[in-house]
Amino acid sequence: MPNPLEHRIATEIAARRDDLVALTRDLIRIPTLNPPGRNYREICDYLADRLGRAGFSVDLVRAEGALGDSAAHPRWNLVARHDGKAGGDCVHFNSHHDVVEVGHGWTRDPFAAEVEGDRIYGRGSCDMKGGLAASIIAAEAFIAACPDYRGAVEISATADEESGGFGGVAYLAEKGRFAPERVQHVIIPEPLHKDRICLGHRGVWWAEIETRGRIAHGSMPFLGDCAVRHMGAVLAEMEATLFPLLATKRTAMPVIPDGARQSTLNINSVHGGAVEQEDGYTGLPAPCVPDRCRIVIDRRYLIEEDLAEVKREVTAMLEKIRAERPNFDYEIRDLFEVIPSMTERDAPIVRSTAAAIEKVLGRHADYVVSPGTYDQKHIDRIGRLKNCIAYGPGVLDLAHQPDEWVGITDMEDSAKVMAFVLAELLAP
Ligand SMILES: [Zn+2]
Repeated sequence: MPNPLEHRIATEIAARRDDLVALTRDLIRIPTLNPPGRNYREICDYLADRLGRAGFSVDLVRAEGALGDSAAHPRWNLVARHDGKAGGDCVHFNSHHDVVEVGHGWTRDPFAAEVEGDRIYGRGSCDMKGGLAASIIAAEAFIAACPDYRGAVEISATADEESGGFGGVAYLAEKGRFAPERVQHVIIPEPLHKDRICLGHRGVWWAEIETRGRIAHGSMPFLGDCAVRHMGAVLAEMEATLFPLLATKRTAMPVIPDGARQSTLNINSVHGGAVEQEDGYTGLPAPCVPDRCRIVIDRRYLIEEDLAEVKREVTAMLEKIRAERPNFDYEIRDLFEVIPSMTERDAPIVRSTAAAIEKVLGRHADYVVSPGTYDQKHIDRIGRLKNCIAYGPGVLDLAHQPDEWVGITDMEDSAKVMAFVLAELLAP
Protein backbone atom coordinates (compact mmCIF):
# COMPACT_ATOMS: atom_id res chain seq x y z
CA MET A 1 0.00 0.00 0.00
CA PRO A 2 1.37 3.45 -0.85
CA ASN A 3 1.85 5.74 2.14
CA PRO A 4 0.28 9.24 2.07
CA LEU A 5 3.39 10.84 0.53
CA GLU A 6 3.55 8.20 -2.22
CA HIS A 7 -0.15 8.76 -2.83
CA ARG A 8 0.48 12.51 -3.27
CA ILE A 9 3.41 11.80 -5.60
CA ALA A 10 1.28 9.47 -7.75
CA THR A 11 -1.37 12.20 -8.03
CA GLU A 12 1.25 14.84 -8.98
CA ILE A 13 2.71 12.56 -11.68
CA ALA A 14 -0.68 11.67 -13.15
CA ALA A 15 -1.49 15.40 -13.36
CA ARG A 16 1.71 15.94 -15.37
CA ARG A 17 1.10 13.33 -18.10
CA ASP A 18 0.48 15.94 -20.84
CA ASP A 19 3.47 17.92 -19.63
CA LEU A 20 5.64 14.78 -19.80
CA VAL A 21 4.60 14.22 -23.42
CA ALA A 22 5.13 17.88 -24.37
CA LEU A 23 8.55 18.00 -22.68
CA THR A 24 9.72 14.81 -24.40
CA ARG A 25 8.53 16.12 -27.78
CA ASP A 26 10.30 19.45 -27.27
CA LEU A 27 13.57 17.64 -26.46
CA ILE A 28 13.32 15.38 -29.54
CA ARG A 29 12.70 18.42 -31.76
CA ILE A 30 16.14 19.80 -30.86
CA PRO A 31 18.40 17.63 -33.07
CA THR A 32 21.48 17.17 -30.89
CA LEU A 33 23.30 14.98 -33.39
CA ASN A 34 26.65 13.56 -32.33
CA PRO A 35 28.99 13.51 -34.11
CA PRO A 36 29.61 16.35 -34.67
CA GLY A 37 27.70 17.68 -31.64
CA ARG A 38 24.90 19.95 -32.89
CA ASN A 39 22.57 22.19 -30.87
CA TYR A 40 24.08 21.38 -27.49
CA ARG A 41 23.71 24.98 -26.35
CA GLU A 42 20.09 25.09 -27.54
CA ILE A 43 19.04 22.04 -25.54
CA CYS A 44 20.90 23.25 -22.44
CA ASP A 45 19.22 26.68 -22.71
CA TYR A 46 15.82 25.01 -23.08
CA LEU A 47 16.39 22.88 -19.97
CA ALA A 48 17.88 25.78 -18.00
CA ASP A 49 14.71 27.77 -18.68
CA ARG A 50 12.43 24.88 -17.74
CA LEU A 51 14.27 23.92 -14.54
CA GLY A 52 14.88 27.55 -13.58
CA ARG A 53 11.13 28.11 -13.62
CA ALA A 54 10.75 25.02 -11.40
CA GLY A 55 13.01 26.63 -8.75
CA PHE A 56 16.31 24.93 -9.64
CA SER A 57 19.57 26.84 -9.72
CA VAL A 58 21.13 26.12 -13.11
CA ASP A 59 24.72 25.97 -14.30
CA LEU A 60 25.78 25.82 -17.92
CA VAL A 61 29.21 24.22 -18.17
CA ARG A 62 31.24 24.12 -21.36
CA ALA A 63 33.82 21.31 -21.42
CA GLU A 64 36.46 23.64 -22.76
CA GLY A 65 39.47 21.82 -24.18
CA ALA A 66 37.87 18.38 -23.81
CA LEU A 67 38.06 15.86 -26.62
CA GLY A 68 35.57 17.02 -29.28
CA ASP A 69 35.13 20.58 -27.96
CA SER A 70 35.61 23.31 -30.59
CA ALA A 71 34.37 26.81 -31.40
CA ALA A 72 32.10 25.35 -34.09
CA HIS A 73 30.76 22.59 -31.83
CA PRO A 74 31.18 23.57 -28.18
CA ARG A 75 30.48 20.82 -25.64
CA TRP A 76 27.76 22.32 -23.42
CA ASN A 77 26.41 20.61 -20.31
CA LEU A 78 23.70 21.59 -17.88
CA VAL A 79 23.69 20.92 -14.14
CA ALA A 80 20.59 21.96 -12.18
CA ARG A 81 20.19 21.75 -8.40
CA HIS A 82 17.29 22.12 -6.02
CA ASP A 83 17.98 22.26 -2.28
CA GLY A 84 15.57 20.99 0.34
CA LYS A 85 14.68 22.59 3.63
CA ALA A 86 17.46 20.88 5.59
CA GLY A 87 20.77 19.13 5.03
CA GLY A 88 20.83 15.58 3.69
CA ASP A 89 21.88 13.42 0.78
CA CYS A 90 22.01 14.62 -2.82
CA VAL A 91 20.29 12.44 -5.43
CA HIS A 92 21.52 13.12 -8.96
CA PHE A 93 19.81 12.15 -12.25
CA ASN A 94 22.25 12.16 -15.17
CA SER A 95 21.10 11.94 -18.78
CA HIS A 96 23.06 12.47 -21.95
CA HIS A 97 21.43 14.94 -24.31
CA ASP A 98 23.23 13.85 -27.51
CA VAL A 99 21.72 11.47 -30.06
CA VAL A 100 23.32 9.33 -32.77
CA GLU A 101 22.97 9.91 -36.50
CA VAL A 102 19.59 9.21 -38.12
CA GLY A 103 20.69 6.40 -40.48
CA HIS A 104 18.50 4.77 -43.13
CA GLY A 105 15.12 3.08 -42.92
CA TRP A 106 12.94 5.69 -41.21
CA THR A 107 9.25 5.82 -42.16
CA ARG A 108 8.72 9.01 -40.09
CA ASP A 109 10.39 12.38 -39.69
CA PRO A 110 13.05 11.62 -37.05
CA PHE A 111 12.77 15.08 -35.47
CA ALA A 112 9.00 15.72 -35.66
CA ALA A 113 8.32 13.79 -32.41
CA GLU A 114 5.09 12.29 -33.76
CA VAL A 115 2.73 10.82 -31.18
CA GLU A 116 0.75 7.73 -32.12
CA GLY A 117 -1.18 5.83 -29.48
CA ASP A 118 1.08 5.33 -26.47
CA ARG A 119 4.30 6.05 -28.37
CA ILE A 120 6.43 9.07 -29.19
CA TYR A 121 8.66 8.55 -32.22
CA GLY A 122 11.95 10.21 -33.00
CA ARG A 123 15.74 9.97 -32.90
CA GLY A 124 16.71 10.01 -29.23
CA SER A 125 13.17 9.33 -27.95
CA CYS A 126 14.25 6.07 -26.33
CA ASP A 127 18.01 6.82 -25.99
CA MET A 128 17.47 8.86 -23.93
CA LYS A 129 15.34 12.01 -24.05
CA GLY A 130 12.36 10.01 -22.72
CA GLY A 131 14.42 9.10 -19.65
CA LEU A 132 15.59 12.70 -19.22
CA ALA A 133 11.98 13.95 -19.38
CA ALA A 134 10.82 11.28 -16.92
CA SER A 135 13.49 12.27 -14.40
CA ILE A 136 12.51 15.96 -14.66
CA ILE A 137 8.83 15.14 -14.10
CA ALA A 138 9.81 12.84 -11.20
CA ALA A 139 11.82 15.60 -9.51
CA GLU A 140 9.15 18.28 -10.02
CA ALA A 141 6.38 15.97 -8.77
CA PHE A 142 8.39 14.95 -5.71
CA ILE A 143 9.20 18.57 -4.80
CA ALA A 144 5.54 19.55 -5.15
CA ALA A 145 4.40 16.61 -3.02
CA CYS A 146 7.12 16.96 -0.38
CA PRO A 147 8.19 20.64 -0.20
CA ASP A 148 9.88 20.18 3.20
CA TYR A 149 12.26 17.44 2.03
CA ARG A 150 15.88 17.36 3.20
CA GLY A 151 18.97 17.08 1.02
CA ALA A 152 19.10 18.04 -2.65
CA VAL A 153 17.99 16.92 -6.08
CA GLU A 154 20.27 17.42 -9.07
CA ILE A 155 19.52 16.92 -12.75
CA SER A 156 22.22 17.00 -15.38
CA ALA A 157 22.00 16.84 -19.17
CA THR A 158 25.42 16.05 -20.55
CA ALA A 159 27.22 15.92 -23.88
CA ASP A 160 28.89 13.21 -25.89
CA GLU A 161 27.87 9.97 -24.15
CA GLU A 162 27.56 8.44 -27.60
CA SER A 163 31.20 9.28 -28.33
CA GLY A 164 32.76 8.36 -24.99
CA GLY A 165 31.50 11.10 -22.66
CA PHE A 166 34.79 13.03 -22.45
CA GLY A 167 33.10 16.39 -23.13
CA GLY A 168 30.28 15.47 -20.75
CA VAL A 169 30.28 13.34 -17.60
CA ALA A 170 34.06 12.76 -17.64
CA TYR A 171 34.64 16.53 -17.69
CA LEU A 172 32.13 17.18 -14.89
CA ALA A 173 33.62 14.34 -12.82
CA GLU A 174 37.10 15.84 -13.26
CA LYS A 175 35.72 19.13 -11.94
CA GLY A 176 34.46 17.36 -8.81
CA ARG A 177 30.76 17.41 -9.70
CA PHE A 178 30.41 13.69 -8.89
CA ALA A 179 32.64 13.61 -5.84
CA PRO A 180 31.08 11.48 -3.07
CA GLU A 181 31.23 14.49 -0.71
CA ARG A 182 28.90 16.35 -3.07
CA VAL A 183 26.64 13.68 -4.58
CA GLN A 184 25.58 10.51 -2.76
CA HIS A 185 23.24 8.70 -5.18
CA VAL A 186 23.16 8.64 -9.00
CA ILE A 187 20.51 7.33 -11.38
CA ILE A 188 21.28 7.35 -15.11
CA PRO A 189 17.90 7.02 -16.91
CA GLU A 190 19.23 5.03 -19.88
CA PRO A 191 16.62 2.86 -21.66
CA LEU A 192 16.96 -0.40 -19.74
CA HIS A 193 13.21 -0.93 -19.24
CA LYS A 194 11.08 0.22 -16.32
CA ASP A 195 11.43 -2.96 -14.25
CA ARG A 196 15.19 -3.43 -14.57
CA ILE A 197 18.06 -2.06 -12.52
CA CYS A 198 21.33 -1.93 -14.40
CA LEU A 199 24.24 -2.30 -11.97
CA GLY A 200 27.11 -1.61 -14.35
CA HIS A 201 28.92 -2.82 -17.44
CA ARG A 202 31.70 -5.07 -18.73
CA GLY A 203 35.21 -3.76 -19.41
CA VAL A 204 36.57 -2.67 -22.78
CA TRP A 205 39.93 -2.92 -24.49
CA TRP A 206 40.41 -1.67 -28.05
CA ALA A 207 43.70 -2.21 -29.80
CA GLU A 208 45.14 -1.99 -33.30
CA ILE A 209 47.30 -4.84 -34.55
CA GLU A 210 49.52 -4.27 -37.57
CA THR A 211 51.40 -6.91 -39.52
CA ARG A 212 54.44 -5.94 -41.61
CA GLY A 213 55.64 -7.11 -45.02
CA ARG A 214 57.53 -5.76 -48.02
CA ILE A 215 56.08 -4.17 -51.15
CA ALA A 216 56.86 -5.74 -54.56
CA HIS A 217 55.24 -6.22 -57.97
CA GLY A 218 52.14 -8.38 -57.76
CA SER A 219 53.33 -10.59 -60.61
CA MET A 220 56.37 -11.59 -58.51
CA PRO A 221 55.01 -11.86 -54.97
CA PHE A 222 58.02 -14.00 -53.98
CA LEU A 223 60.14 -10.84 -54.21
CA GLY A 224 58.02 -9.19 -51.51
CA ASP A 225 56.35 -10.30 -48.30
CA CYS A 226 52.55 -10.13 -48.05
CA ALA A 227 51.33 -8.43 -44.85
CA VAL A 228 47.75 -9.58 -45.56
CA ARG A 229 48.83 -13.23 -45.48
CA HIS A 230 50.54 -12.58 -42.15
CA MET A 231 47.28 -11.10 -40.88
CA GLY A 232 45.51 -14.18 -42.22
CA ALA A 233 47.70 -16.23 -39.91
CA VAL A 234 46.65 -14.00 -37.00
CA LEU A 235 42.96 -14.45 -37.81
CA ALA A 236 43.41 -18.23 -38.21
CA GLU A 237 45.09 -18.44 -34.82
CA MET A 238 42.25 -16.41 -33.26
CA GLU A 239 39.72 -18.86 -34.69
CA ALA A 240 41.73 -21.87 -33.55
CA THR A 241 42.62 -20.81 -30.01
CA LEU A 242 41.47 -17.35 -28.87
CA PHE A 243 37.72 -17.47 -29.64
CA PRO A 244 37.35 -20.95 -28.06
CA LEU A 245 39.23 -19.69 -24.97
CA LEU A 246 36.96 -16.63 -24.63
CA ALA A 247 33.85 -18.83 -24.89
CA THR A 248 34.96 -20.68 -21.74
CA LYS A 249 35.07 -17.49 -19.67
CA ARG A 250 31.66 -16.94 -18.08
CA THR A 251 30.81 -14.24 -15.58
CA ALA A 252 28.71 -14.06 -12.45
CA MET A 253 27.67 -10.55 -13.62
CA PRO A 254 24.01 -10.66 -14.79
CA VAL A 255 24.89 -9.36 -18.27
CA ILE A 256 22.10 -9.11 -20.85
CA PRO A 257 21.67 -10.50 -23.46
CA ASP A 258 22.95 -13.94 -22.49
CA GLY A 259 25.49 -14.05 -25.34
CA ALA A 260 27.36 -11.25 -23.56
CA ARG A 261 27.75 -13.24 -20.31
CA GLN A 262 31.12 -14.38 -21.59
CA SER A 263 34.24 -12.63 -22.79
CA THR A 264 33.79 -11.43 -26.38
CA LEU A 265 35.99 -10.09 -29.12
CA ASN A 266 34.98 -8.29 -32.29
CA ILE A 267 37.22 -7.42 -35.20
CA ASN A 268 35.96 -3.93 -35.96
CA SER A 269 37.89 -3.47 -39.19
CA VAL A 270 40.59 -4.84 -41.45
CA HIS A 271 42.67 -2.76 -43.83
CA GLY A 272 45.47 -4.01 -46.03
CA GLY A 273 47.14 -3.21 -49.32
CA ALA A 274 46.29 -0.38 -51.70
CA VAL A 275 44.09 2.43 -50.40
CA GLU A 276 40.56 2.10 -51.77
CA GLN A 277 39.89 4.59 -54.57
CA GLU A 278 37.07 7.12 -54.48
CA ASP A 279 33.66 6.15 -55.85
CA GLY A 280 34.12 7.92 -59.18
CA TYR A 281 37.35 6.08 -60.05
CA THR A 282 36.80 3.74 -62.99
CA GLY A 283 40.32 2.36 -63.44
CA LEU A 284 41.80 -0.86 -62.14
CA PRO A 285 43.94 -1.13 -59.00
CA ALA A 286 47.74 -1.46 -59.38
CA PRO A 287 49.32 -4.85 -58.66
CA CYS A 288 51.31 -4.60 -55.43
CA VAL A 289 52.21 -6.91 -52.58
CA PRO A 290 50.74 -5.26 -49.44
CA ASP A 291 53.40 -4.21 -46.96
CA ARG A 292 51.01 -3.29 -44.12
CA CYS A 293 47.80 -4.81 -42.77
CA ARG A 294 45.88 -3.55 -39.77
CA ILE A 295 42.94 -4.76 -37.71
CA VAL A 296 41.16 -3.08 -34.82
CA ILE A 297 39.99 -5.45 -32.11
CA ASP A 298 37.24 -4.72 -29.58
CA ARG A 299 37.63 -7.00 -26.57
CA ARG A 300 34.90 -6.88 -23.90
CA TYR A 301 36.04 -8.38 -20.61
CA LEU A 302 34.51 -9.51 -17.35
CA ILE A 303 34.79 -8.28 -13.79
CA GLU A 304 36.54 -11.57 -12.95
CA GLU A 305 39.29 -10.81 -15.51
CA ASP A 306 42.33 -8.61 -15.15
CA LEU A 307 43.07 -6.15 -17.98
CA ALA A 308 46.80 -6.97 -17.99
CA GLU A 309 45.94 -10.67 -18.41
CA VAL A 310 43.43 -9.83 -21.19
CA LYS A 311 46.21 -8.05 -23.08
CA ARG A 312 48.71 -10.84 -22.37
CA GLU A 313 46.43 -13.42 -24.03
CA VAL A 314 46.63 -11.51 -27.31
CA THR A 315 50.35 -10.73 -27.17
CA ALA A 316 51.11 -14.37 -26.23
CA MET A 317 49.16 -15.48 -29.31
CA LEU A 318 51.11 -13.04 -31.52
CA GLU A 319 54.43 -14.17 -30.02
CA LYS A 320 53.52 -17.81 -30.71
CA ILE A 321 52.94 -16.93 -34.37
CA ARG A 322 56.22 -15.04 -34.48
CA ALA A 323 58.05 -18.11 -33.18
CA GLU A 324 56.46 -20.39 -35.78
CA ARG A 325 56.04 -18.26 -38.90
CA PRO A 326 59.01 -17.04 -40.98
CA ASN A 327 59.34 -13.23 -41.34
CA PHE A 328 56.31 -12.56 -39.12
CA ASP A 329 56.49 -9.15 -37.52
CA TYR A 330 53.78 -7.14 -35.82
CA GLU A 331 53.03 -4.11 -33.72
CA ILE A 332 50.16 -3.69 -31.27
CA ARG A 333 48.84 -0.33 -30.09
CA ASP A 334 46.32 0.37 -27.30
CA LEU A 335 43.46 2.60 -28.41
CA PHE A 336 41.00 2.67 -25.52
CA GLU A 337 40.23 0.93 -22.26
CA VAL A 338 37.52 0.95 -19.60
CA ILE A 339 37.54 -1.16 -16.46
CA PRO A 340 34.33 -3.07 -15.61
CA SER A 341 31.95 -1.41 -13.16
CA MET A 342 29.33 -3.06 -10.96
CA THR A 343 27.49 -1.47 -8.07
CA GLU A 344 26.75 -3.76 -5.09
CA ARG A 345 23.19 -5.04 -4.83
CA ASP A 346 22.87 -3.78 -1.28
CA ALA A 347 23.94 -0.22 -2.20
CA PRO A 348 21.34 2.33 -1.04
CA ILE A 349 20.34 3.44 -4.56
CA VAL A 350 19.82 -0.18 -5.64
CA ARG A 351 17.74 -1.07 -2.59
CA SER A 352 15.51 1.99 -2.80
CA THR A 353 14.97 1.59 -6.57
CA ALA A 354 14.10 -2.10 -6.13
CA ALA A 355 11.57 -1.20 -3.43
CA ALA A 356 10.05 1.53 -5.63
CA ILE A 357 9.71 -0.84 -8.62
CA GLU A 358 7.85 -3.29 -6.39
CA LYS A 359 5.47 -0.59 -5.16
CA VAL A 360 4.77 0.93 -8.59
CA LEU A 361 4.77 -2.16 -10.82
CA GLY A 362 3.85 -4.89 -8.33
CA ARG A 363 6.79 -7.12 -9.28
CA HIS A 364 10.39 -7.76 -8.31
CA ALA A 365 13.08 -5.79 -10.11
CA ASP A 366 15.41 -7.61 -12.48
CA TYR A 367 19.11 -6.91 -11.99
CA VAL A 368 21.14 -6.60 -15.17
CA VAL A 369 24.57 -5.54 -16.38
CA SER A 370 25.06 -3.81 -19.72
CA PRO A 371 27.15 -5.50 -22.43
CA GLY A 372 28.57 -2.10 -23.43
CA THR A 373 29.71 0.84 -21.34
CA TYR A 374 27.94 4.11 -20.60
CA ASP A 375 28.67 7.16 -18.46
CA GLN A 376 28.74 5.16 -15.20
CA LYS A 377 32.41 4.45 -16.03
CA HIS A 378 33.36 8.09 -15.44
CA ILE A 379 31.23 8.44 -12.30
CA ASP A 380 32.87 5.31 -10.88
CA ARG A 381 36.48 5.92 -11.95
CA ILE A 382 36.92 9.68 -12.03
CA GLY A 383 34.17 10.62 -9.59
CA ARG A 384 34.96 7.70 -7.22
CA LEU A 385 31.21 7.37 -6.65
CA LYS A 386 30.06 3.74 -6.40
CA ASN A 387 26.40 4.25 -5.49
CA CYS A 388 25.24 4.56 -9.11
CA ILE A 389 22.84 2.66 -11.38
CA ALA A 390 21.16 2.98 -14.75
CA TYR A 391 17.39 2.92 -14.55
CA GLY A 392 14.96 4.37 -17.06
CA PRO A 393 12.10 3.83 -19.52
CA GLY A 394 12.49 2.53 -23.04
CA VAL A 395 13.39 -0.66 -24.87
CA LEU A 396 17.16 -0.99 -25.19
CA ASP A 397 16.92 -2.78 -28.56
CA LEU A 398 15.30 0.32 -30.12
CA ALA A 399 18.29 2.53 -29.35
CA HIS A 400 20.08 3.80 -32.47
CA GLN A 401 17.44 2.07 -34.72
CA PRO A 402 15.17 3.63 -37.37
CA ASP A 403 11.66 4.55 -36.11
CA GLU A 404 12.96 4.66 -32.52
CA TRP A 405 10.16 5.31 -30.01
CA VAL A 406 9.48 5.59 -26.30
CA GLY A 407 6.29 4.49 -24.53
CA ILE A 408 4.34 7.22 -22.71
CA THR A 409 3.03 4.87 -20.02
CA ASP A 410 6.55 3.48 -19.54
CA MET A 411 7.87 7.01 -19.01
CA GLU A 412 5.08 7.77 -16.55
CA ASP A 413 5.67 4.55 -14.58
CA SER A 414 9.41 5.06 -14.41
CA ALA A 415 8.91 8.71 -13.37
CA LYS A 416 6.82 7.39 -10.50
CA VAL A 417 9.58 4.91 -9.57
CA MET A 418 12.19 7.70 -9.61
CA ALA A 419 9.98 9.97 -7.48
CA PHE A 420 9.39 7.14 -4.97
CA VAL A 421 13.18 6.72 -4.76
CA LEU A 422 13.45 10.43 -3.89
CA ALA A 423 10.76 9.97 -1.23
CA GLU A 424 12.62 7.01 0.27
CA LEU A 425 15.97 8.82 0.37
CA LEU A 426 14.95 12.44 1.08
CA ALA A 427 11.58 12.58 2.85
CA PRO A 428 11.88 14.12 6.34
ZN1 LIG B 1 22.17 6.34 -24.20
